[in-house]
Amino acid sequence: MDGKKFDGQPVTEELLDTNGYRKYSGKEIDIYYNKDICIHAGECVRGNSAVYEVGRRPWIIADNAVVDEQVQIIAKCPSGALKYIRKDVE
Ligand code: SF4
Repeated sequence: MDGKKFDGQPVTEELLDTNGYRKYSGKEIDIYYNKDICIHAGECVRGNSAVYEVGRRPWIIADNAVVDEQVQIIAKCPSGALKYIRKDVE
């Protein structure tokens, strides 16, 4: 699912916050996660377990992979529970 859009709109921090997403900050990308939308398909954990590790706190560490990889993993999230805002190029 498109990690840069929510409900057809480009994501902003405010939009994601209003819709129940929690922010996991990184140097070059912020990852947002909504536990109420997640269907536990596991694409994120299979994508990179250094970034997504269930049971760890925080369970998402945005700096544990390069940004392009992060974007690819988030695109595979089938539910829309993961979104991102890049801080490097966009
Ligand atoms: S890929 Fe998306 S739906 Fe699947 S576990 Fe991760 S956040 Fe949840």
